[in-house]
Amino acid sequence: MAGDAILETNGLTKEFRGFVAVRNVDLRVERGTIHALIGPNGAGKTTVFNLLTKFLQPTSGRILYNGQDITRIKPADVARLGIVRSFQISAVFPHLTVLENVRVALQRPLGNSFHFWESESRLNRLNGRAEELLEDVGLSGYAGHLAVELPYGRKRALEIATTLALDPDMMLLDEPMAGMGHEDIGRIAELIRRVAAKRTILMVEHNLSVVADLSDRITVLARGEILAEGSYAEVSRDARVMEAYMGT
Ligand code: ADP
Repeated sequence: MAGDAILETNGLTKEFRGFVAVRNVDLRVERGTIHALIGPNGAGKTTVFNLLTKFLQPTSGRILYNGQDITRIKPADVARLGIVRSFQISAVFPHLTVLENVRVALQRPLGNSFHFWESESRLNRLNGRAEELLEDVGLSGYAGHLAVELPYGRKRALEIATTLALDPDMMLLDEPMAGMGHEDIGRIAELIRRVAAKRTILMVEHNLSVVADLSDRITVLARGEILAEGSYAEVSRDARVMEAYMGT
């Protein structure tokens, strides 16, 4: 019996001037899972993420979130519904401190207003929440550092904290381990696992041992189409998957 789908696509297709980058993709992400989207370069993974976050409009097909058709909604409404994407390219303010970055992110759902200055209790609440978030991502010791001074892996952790500030139900992670050394990978993997206890995660990730370690379910894309789906053990046994990876 299938579980509860938080996100589904039906026949999702994207053409770029006649070139079909994503073809008839039926993706099903179950609530509370870590779901990985993998595949060789050019498979269509980024295009799928761009379609899900509405940076691109599909040529055809539908996207359902909690059963609601979100195919035609605006990017800002995607975030409002609880889907937040963490960018591969670092999206933190380099010359703000770590704590300030998280405070700015916490203000975002309030329309970047400065209401928190209106009362001390509000400001205290905001600071308390920011400190909690830093604790959650292991950055408490870095609160006063400028973001630009953080080592790469810590910067990614800050980026995840600013994403978590929006309290999303679903996080889309774009290559969370890109450019990271062994130690950072371990730390971010642990963080993703912790974050996933209360949320659904869809991630594109090239590091297959991370994918094996973290994912409940994997969808393999190749040339814009779903080639295989299942657990890591299942998809890694599939001869077509190996062929797709070797053939590029
Ligand atoms: P992946 O993320 O799996 O590496 P992409 O989604 O970036 O794959 O790309 C899938 C295919 O679509 C590639 O062949 C790429 O060249 C093509 N593509 C992506 N974006 C565009 C675009 N804006 N215009 C034309 N072709 C594109």
